[in-house]
Amino acid sequence: MLLFPTPLEMFTRFSSENKLEMTKQKVIIIGAGLAGSLLAIYLAKRGIAADIYESRGDMQKTETAAGRSINLALSNRGIAALKEIGLDEYMLAEAVPMHGRMTHAVDGQTRLLRYSGRQGEYINSVSRAGLNIALMNEAERYAGVKFYFNEKLIDFDCNTGEAKFESGEIVKGDTLIATDGAGSAVRNAMLHGGVPRFNFSQSWLEHGYKELHIPPGAGGDFQMEKNALHIWARRAFMMIALPNFDGSFTCTLFLAHTGGENSFEQLTDEKSLLEFFKANFADAIPLMPTLTEDFFTNPIGNLGTIKCFPWNVGGKSLLLGDSAHAVVPFYGQGMNASFEDCRILNELIERHGTDWEKVFGEYGALRKENTDAIAQMAEENFYEMRDAVADPVFVRKRELETKLEHAFPDYFSKYSMVTFREDLPYSVAKRKGNAQDKLLMEICSDVKDVSQINLNDVMKKVKRI
Ligand code: FAD
Repeated sequence: MLLFPTPLEMFTRFSSENKLEMTKQKVIIIGAGLAGSLLAIYLAKRGIAADIYESRGDMQKTETAAGRSINLALSNRGIAALKEIGLDEYMLAEAVPMHGRMTHAVDGQTRLLRYSGRQGEYINSVSRAGLNIALMNEAERYAGVKFYFNEKLIDFDCNTGEAKFESGEIVKGDTLIATDGAGSAVRNAMLHGGVPRFNFSQSWLEHGYKELHIPPGAGGDFQMEKNALHIWARRAFMMIALPNFDGSFTCTLFLAHTGGENSFEQLTDEKSLLEFFKANFADAIPLMPTLTEDFFTNPIGNLGTIKCFPWNVGGKSLLLGDSAHAVVPFYGQGMNASFEDCRILNELIERHGTDWEKVFGEYGALRKENTDAIAQMAEENFYEMRDAVADPVFVRKRELETKLEHAFPDYFSKYSMVTFREDLPYSVAKRKGNAQDKLLMEICSDVKDVSQINLNDVMKKVKRI
């Protein structure tokens, strides 16, 4: 706990009447995950007190369990938020840059498809727990922030604004922001009678995921290319691997839960597991000494998209992050979008102060079409990663895009617009990106080699979009 306010805290507390007014405010945050911890910092910087209630124990003191993505791809939208709270350099110092997708064919051949033709445009593999703990530590530096662990919210009263916990505790602040993730209890209260005509949809993929492990090599070195997101695309299923700072990789196997030729349901013992791996991921087997143990110990996770609206109950509460818009992880944007949520909410507080009803209403109106856009692009990217990276036309298209990005500084692929352009709303990236994709796929299906394509002609057509 910080005894003396930081210079920035002094500034935010005493610089203006408006800010002084804000110090009287207290926000209840439900969930000390990635979005909740970041949000507390944003609020604290404005002199707004935040009490954060988290159902789990204190992560800073307990080991995190396997099974919930150990590492994550952090990109520009998330970095922009971390920069605003001064944690970007700290987090990037322990991140592993990934410059592209390294595809692994069934015969073990690899190929790097770069994410961008421009220097400095790459994504970063960071530790989920490391990032969460860094955010909580930073939040705790502010006197106005208090964490309450092992406090599970069981109900939220949309009329009174009271939050009720399993422990029997009932709390109420000036408002409540729910960052309690995809299974949000606050959202459930809104859905089950709290908000009339509350729109809600949840759609599950038939695929689930399981995490597996590639340890560092003998000398602590990476056993595969360090600076890439590895991908074994096998049409109906796939495996990916992201590097960790300690030389290991975390693999995630995405596979149908049940039925068909290949599914989790069919991998019931060591024999069936090894046969499946030998047929599909043979080059990975020697790198995975604990494959069997990991496979039969780690849980299978579900993958789904959650949409709902409205996100607020007047000025009493707001859903933010996964609680409002959980997406499938195939664009690596769920956390990045949640961090962008915090950044945009902060801008609206800057504009409207703590008129929560106005802030929340405007936030929802601004943000919904963008989170819907990333939800759709994330689902589509599942098929791109699973099928298209093994498709020669798509591989040529990626090559062409890389060339265009290299030759024309103002060309951005859809992936680049989503991942590296924090100044562009997701909805714009989707609209423009889809039109570009259609054009480039047509061009690449007509040629055998990208060198036959005149880049200036292509760029002229792109500019007409
Ligand atoms: P969460 O991180 O889920 O945090 C919610 C918090 O609320 C948790 O601490 C939880 O314990 C707490 N909580 C829940 N219920 C209650 C309750 N009733 N009372 C009190 N506390 C409660 N995103 C990326 O940007 N890049 C990636 O590469 C990426 N990879 C992913 C891979 C996988 C396999 C998955 C599943 C997701 C991935 N994501 C990725 C998405 C990312 O994990 C989420 O978007 C992000 O965690 C959302 O943050 P959040 O704070 O809203 O929710």
